[in-house]
Amino acid sequence: MTAVDTATATVRLLIIGPPGAGKGTQAAKLAEIYGIPAISTGDIFRANIKDGTELGQKVQQIVESGSYVPDELTNELVRDRLLQPDVEVGFLLDGYPRTTEQVGELDRILHESGARLDAVIQLVADVDEVVERLRKRALVEGRADDTEEVLRHRQQVYAEQTAPLIDVYADRGLVVVVDALGHVDEVTERIVTALANR
Ligand code: ADP
Repeated sequence: MTAVDTATATVRLLIIGPPGAGKGTQAAKLAEIYGIPAISTGDIFRANIKDGTELGQKVQQIVESGSYVPDELTNELVRDRLLQPDVEVGFLLDGYPRTTEQVGELDRILHESGARLDAVIQLVADVDEVVERLRKRALVEGRADDTEEVLRHRQQVYAEQTAPLIDVYADRGLVVVVDALGHVDEVTERIVTALANR
C-alpha cells in the first residue's frame, strides 16, 4: 500500500474497539500510511511500568488488573503528549478516550488549539474471536493483563465504560465502522477505503 499524500492534510483520528480487536496493530499501519504519530495510552503506561517511573509505579496494579487508570492521570498524560510538536500533522489516538470524562477532556484539548477530529474508527469483532486472539497473544508477549480472568474483566470494563462512547461520536457523524476480522492487511485496506469514502 502506498502512503497517502499528507503534504496539505492534517489527519486526526481515533480508533476504538474491544481489547483484542487489533487496534494497536492497525494503529501502527495507519500511522505510517497517513504520516501521523500513533499514540497508544496502553503502550505509554506499559513503558512507564517497565521503566519503573513514578507514573509506572502508580498505575502498575491497575493496568495489570485490567481496570482503567483514573481519568486525571490519563488525561494529564494525553494533554502533555498532544502538545508535542510531532502532533502538528495530526494523530491517531489508540486507547483514548475510554470514558465519558476523557471524551470531555479531549474535546477541551482540541478546542483550545482550534483542532477537530476527522473520524473515529470503530473496529468490530466478535467477543469469542477476540478472547481467542488475546489468549494467543498472551503466549507470545506475556502481557500481565492477558490472563483469562483479567481478559474477562477487560471485556466487561470495555462494554460498560467505552462502548457507550461510540454513540457519542456517532451522534457527531464521525464513526466509521470496520469489520476487524480477517488478515491484518485486509482490515487496514478496509479502514483506508472507509475513510476515503466518508
Ligand atoms: P487493550 O486495548 O488491549 O485493552 P491497551 O494497551 O489499550 O489494551 O490498554 C491496556 C491497559 O492500559 C488498560 O486495560 C488500562 O488499564 C490502561 N489504559 C490504557 N488507556 C487507558 C485510558 N484511556 N484510560 C484508562 N486506562 C487506560
